[in-house]
Parts: sequence; structure tokens; C-alpha cells
Amino acid sequence: MRTISILGSTGSIGRQTLEVAEACGHRVAALSVNRSVELAEEQARKVRPDLVAAADEKAAADLRLRLADTPIRVVGGPQGLLEAASLPQADTVVTAVVGIAGLKPTLAAIDAGKRIALANKETLVCAGDLVMARARERGAEIVPVDSEHSAIFQCLQGCRDRGEVRRLIITASGGPFFGKSREELGQVTREQALRHPNWSMGAKITIDSATLMNKGLEFIEAMRLYAMPPEKISVVVHRESIIHSLVEFVDGAILAQLGTADMRLPIQYALTWPERTAGPAAPLDLLSCPPLTFHAPDPQAFPCLALALECARKGGTSTAILNGANEAAVALFLEDKVKFLDIPRLVAGALEQVEARTGAYSLEDVLQADRAARAAVDEMMR
Ligand code: MG
Repeated sequence: MRTISILGSTGSIGRQTLEVAEACGHRVAALSVNRSVELAEEQARKVRPDLVAAADEKAAADLRLRLADTPIRVVGGPQGLLEAASLPQADTVVTAVVGIAGLKPTLAAIDAGKRIALANKETLVCAGDLVMARARERGAEIVPVDSEHSAIFQCLQGCRDRGEVRRLIITASGGPFFGKSREELGQVTREQALRHPNWSMGAKITIDSATLMNKGLEFIEAMRLYAMPPEKISVVVHRESIIHSLVEFVDGAILAQLGTADMRLPIQYALTWPERTAGPAAPLDLLSCPPLTFHAPDPQAFPCLALALECARKGGTSTAILNGANEAAVALFLEDKVKFLDIPRLVAGALEQVEARTGAYSLEDVLQADRAARAAVDEMMR
């Protein structure tokens, strides 16, 4: 059993982590939220953590009052988040914060030698080289929660030599707009984009799934996590979301992980690895599975994927620019301020305007690239 700290406990992954913890008997030592105080109070009363952190100071003050009758300590601001990430009682930190906001807390958890159950892909996209090097240095384990990367991680168990891997194959559901032409995509609404066919997820990642940027970010995440060059990774559209990803070996064998579209399984595996335990995820019934289909992705209709692959090959801080511009553009789309196809347009514009640093980079370079990308998106909106 693990003692866990959940960063982003009120989001989709955070809530499912609490279900896994309850079902499997893991202790929750800390919760962190942004500003959802009501749900945070409810969660805290239920699991009785030692610490609750709210990134928003006002939310922290409110939570402190709400939990005044309990021994739970409430902290606020960015510092509070770092405290939750490095709490001595916890051995595992589930990083379910959305966006680059997860970067510093992830580094803090690594520095504290925790196991990272990584559910924040933007961390590896923006600063993967730094994060992975720091984890190696500190001996911190990084176990992916993202379903595709968990599938690959599971397929690699028992592989003693990475030289035996020919290719990682990441599956993509294709999102709600699979098969649509560029013209048709010009007309789609926010509500349509938020309706994912297979997975129920937070708003940001659901939009990323509709643009296929999510698959681009996952491509970069896989490169960093498994130290694979881009030419050894491919993306295949698999509409049914039953195969969560595959690994092809040099002898031609392909291993795949199959399962229902239930994030509780990869969350649980990240906690219990290398062991497996019974858990709350429903098993897959092969006899009621639809036929499994595979298609090549369409980079013309979904330019975000092409942009991400370009940055993957370029490396350096280009992936932080890509991510920062995408976070800004998706926020604008969710506020109904831009159209669906403006997302790739704004990201491409930022990549053109902001110069990427190639080769080695520092944390400050990454944060600077992120700020410059957001500023470029702002500028294009004037
Ligand atoms: Mg995923």
C-alpha cells in the first residue's frame, strides 16, 4: 500500500485517484486543488489528509475556515503546492495538475525522491530532458498514468534491452471529429468539441483530443519517457479505444495492452507497479468488443499533430513554445473567443514568431519560452 499526495485532486484524474485509493486501501496524505473549495472540503473530510493545498490564496483562506474543526493543515499559493508535492509522509505523488503549472511541483516531488505517478503530460512536453535527467539523478521513479504511456510501460515490462524495441505505436481515438475535412472543421462548435466519443476527461485535454494536439503532446511525452527518437514512434488511429498502445520488437512481435476506457486502471498500476492488485476498473469483455480498426491520422485536417511532430524533431524549447501557445489558444477556444481552426493557426503563428533554443536548456529557458509563446498568442488576438 502506498501513501499518496494528489496534486489536482478535484479534476478528473484526481477524483479517479481517490476512487482507486479508497478501493485499494492506499492512504492519502495530501490533496492540492486550484480553487474548487467545496469539493476539496468534501474530499478532505472523507480521506482526512494531513495537508490540503490550494493554489489560489483566497480559496486557501476559505478552505482554512471550512476545515477549522479538523486537524487538517491548509496551505496556499504556489509554495503550498510545492509543500504538498514534497510532504515527507507521502511516498508517491500523483501529478494531475493541468498544463505547465505541473512542472515545478513535479520537480519538487522528484527532488524529494518520491515516486511520480505522472498524469501531467505538459511537464514532459515542456521540459522532458530536464525532468528525466533530474529523476535519474535523484533516483525518483516516474511511472506514467496517461493511458497510452501506461500501455507502453506495461508492454515493456520484461524487456531487458531497449535495443530490442523497434517502434512504439501510440493509439489515438481520433476524437469527435475523425473523418471530417478541414472545411467541415471550420464550422464545429465548442460543445461538439467537448463531446469525446470514448473517454470522459477534463475540458483542456478533451479539446486537445479533438484537435489531435493531445496525440502530438503524447508523442513528445513518449520520446522523453522512453528515450526514443521520433522515427521510432508512430501514431495510429484506433477508434474503439480498446488497445491503449503497442510496442513492436525487432523480431516483429507486437505486444499490446487492451482494456476498457477506464483511467482507474493506469492510475492504479502507477501506484502498485511492479505489482498488480485487484481494483475497481471493469474488465474488458472480448466477446462484446466491436471489431478493432486502424487508420492513418490525417495531418492535413488536423495540423496540430503535424506541428507537434515537427517540434518533436526539433527539440530544445520548441516543445515548450508549442505547449504554451496551445494552452493559451485552447483557453481562448473554451471562452468562445476563437474558432476551432484558430487553435492550430495561433500555435503555428507562435512557433513562427518565437525563436526556440536548440540543444541544452535550463528551467528558466523553458519558462521564458512558455511566456513568450503566450504573449505571441495575445499579440495575434489584438
Ligand atoms: Mg492519453
